[in-house]
Amino acid sequence: MHHAGAVPLMPIRAEHVFLYPIDWPQLSHHVRFVRAGGRCEHCGRPHGERVFHLGDGRWWDRGRLYWRNGQGRRVRRPTGDILADGAWTPVVLACAHLNHDPSDSALHQLAALCQRCHMIYDGPEHRRRRWMNAHYRRAIGDLFYGPYPERGADWIGPTPLSMLDDNRSLYAKLR
Ligand SMILES: [Zn+2]
Repeated sequence: MHHAGAVPLMPIRAEHVFLYPIDWPQLSHHVRFVRAGGRCEHCGRPHGERVFHLGDGRWWDRGRLYWRNGQGRRVRRPTGDILADGAWTPVVLACAHLNHDPSDSALHQLAALCQRCHMIYDGPEHRRRRWMNAHYRRAIGDLFYGPYPERGADWIGPTPLSMLDDNRSLYAKLR
């Protein structure tokens, strides 16, 4: 079974599940398919379709018959070898938290975003989560296996500034 509606679009990490409201699937569906009409609310790409794009955000809207950019605005027909420069990509909409806080699911904090816009929007947050996950993994390692060996140690890097002074932290409300 492989139609788009049945695929888990944006898996929720196990440790974040409890932050999501009980009706998250319905909420997510409402945002993506009722409010957004199945199109990315940032760039306009249609969910479940393959679009032809140029890699810099520009894509061909075959419904409207013109090129649009990464903000969804109409742009002039690209020059150059479109077939050589472009590629097809499937579009998958996810329901994103605009303030990066999964415990705040007010409708105005949610947006239907394609994977490209989601990645761009969430970039710093994703980096922070990766850092945190690495941090926890190593901390647990410490707990069970003692301190890191002096040689060949998988030392954790210095704490990124974004971890220190960001009041939007996912965990801020839990402290
Ligand atoms: Zn998009």
